[in-house]
Amino acid sequence: MSRLLFQGIAGVADKSEQIKATAKPLDPGPFVAEGDTLHEECGVVAIHGHPDAARQAYLGLYALQHRGQESAGIATADGQHLANIKGMGLVSEIFTDDVLAKLPGQMAIGHTRYSTTGDSALLNAQPIRVDSTKGLIAIAHNGNLVNLGNLRARLERDGAYFQTTSDSEIIVQLIAHSRAGTLVDAIADSLGQVEGAFSIVMMTRDRIFAARDPRGFRPLSMGRIKNPDGPDTIVFASETCAFDLLRAEHERDVLPGELVMVTEDGVTSRQYATGAAQSSCVFEHVYFARPDSRIFGRWVQESRDQMGRQLARESGVPADVVVPVPDSGVTAALGYAEQAGIPFRMGLIRNHYVGRTFIEPEQRVRDFGVRLKLNPVHNLLEGKRVILIDDSIIRGTTSRKIVRMVRGAGAKEVHLRISCPPTISPCFYGVDTPSKRDLIAANKSIEEIRQYIEADSLAYLSLEGLLKSCDGGQGTGFCSACYTGNYPTQWVDVEDILPAAETVGI
Ligand code: SF4
Repeated sequence: MSRLLFQGIAGVADKSEQIKATAKPLDPGPFVAEGDTLHEECGVVAIHGHPDAARQAYLGLYALQHRGQESAGIATADGQHLANIKGMGLVSEIFTDDVLAKLPGQMAIGHTRYSTTGDSALLNAQPIRVDSTKGLIAIAHNGNLVNLGNLRARLERDGAYFQTTSDSEIIVQLIAHSRAGTLVDAIADSLGQVEGAFSIVMMTRDRIFAARDPRGFRPLSMGRIKNPDGPDTIVFASETCAFDLLRAEHERDVLPGELVMVTEDGVTSRQYATGAAQSSCVFEHVYFARPDSRIFGRWVQESRDQMGRQLARESGVPADVVVPVPDSGVTAALGYAEQAGIPFRMGLIRNHYVGRTFIEPEQRVRDFGVRLKLNPVHNLLEGKRVILIDDSIIRGTTSRKIVRMVRGAGAKEVHLRISCPPTISPCFYGVDTPSKRDLIAANKSIEEIRQYIEADSLAYLSLEGLLKSCDGGQGTGFCSACYTGNYPTQWVDVEDILPAAETVGI
């Protein structure tokens, strides 16, 4: 049973109540039991100047559902009041017509979440609404702060009372404790104190704010819905695919270190931080973002196509068919097949409804493993030399099962090609990766991994090949720390970056 948390109308403290909903449980996913996949981060949207802002936010979140399926929330404001409803489950399950009707106003922010920091609970679902000395503020945050401990301790010494364990609330508490005279100055002051990855949208009773961290780790774009009879609707979203559903035009990206404010008087902007080298997450192009989104100035589809082509140039092998591991391996496989002149075939079929109907205790899900989600097309694989394209190997257990599955369907040879370099280090910027001791590429050579996953050959895309694929050689500053171990910020968790040998004292 999904749960909803309703924070409604303006008052001194949040009045929260549990509302029962009829939504189904969360999709456990076939890989969850094995912990062998990287989880999406979060998606955020903001709407300013629309008579049904809640529904617009709903549509935006619907398009961003791939960025987090654990919980979702929408907060709205009508100039006087600020309401907030959030729940566990998918966007479409939580926000029925009845629920949307409880969210009046011309402004809205929304969030869909996979938990990265803070407990995986309704309390930490977003938007978070805090009644501060600067008035009511709602915030929705994509990313992960890395200087959490210090900031939280300092704020608590200063008398801050935290309502959640989420790092996003730290930003609001910093705003509340800022000595700056105006709200926009307080926000700029606070954002300048936090280190890490954040693309955030915020709302007061009468204003919307959008900002990105100084290094621009996570994407955030601004769009506009033209209104011939009045002011345009201004929208913000983690990915531009949300604009298509809203019929909004993509105007521009929010810049790294930029704070944008939208009021009745229009859009104003300030650069609250300058000088940091851009470190946009290259893994957004590899895996997270939808291919129909344009992020960091480039279509994701184009990047993945180029990754596949480059992979074919770097590590081609004679074969009969190129088969993607669906869904995320599809675009790279198309590029690979075209570059190599080898037929592309959907030799693995993904069941998109796993977990929505197949609700089993964890142990029984574990027994089904990968077979629950993927099934081979025997007549496409039988007797064939297969090049399998996937976007990452994390622990290696899932890759081994897929290789076995393809071979079990009659493939003569299975050559695994990965459309990014080996993942050797965890992410501290909003992507839920295991610690180094659990990353197979941090602890084994490529040949050892090949033997473990039982492939005839294994190759990864080079780092140079990946970076060039993602910006066409434009020199975009990317973070690639999970492939290099070179982190753009100073704050990392030392425990998490120790390799397996050191943790067991070898
Ligand atoms: S460490 Fe990897 S996943 Fe994390 S922000 Fe950098 S590139 Fe992205």
